[in-house]
Amino acid sequence: MYYSRKRQMIDLPEEMTTIWSCTNKKCNGWMRNNFVFLIQPICGQCNCFMEKGEKMLPILANTSPIQTKH
Ligand SMILES: [Zn+2]
Repeated sequence: MYYSRKRQMIDLPEEMTTIWSCTNKKCNGWMRNNFVFLIQPICGQCNCFMEKGEKMLPILANTSPIQTKH
């Protein structure tokens, strides 16, 4: 049993994912768009506004069923 969670994270393929990042330059807070349910999310770390952006992230395969590529 050599499977560790860390290892699996590294092996996951990545893709450009829509995220919200904190506008506060001193803060590195961000969150995935999937987990944002507000029109204008607020950073959970410093309460600044967040802006939409993109980031290379491991593809999430948690709740929603994976759909076949079009
Ligand atoms: Zn912040």
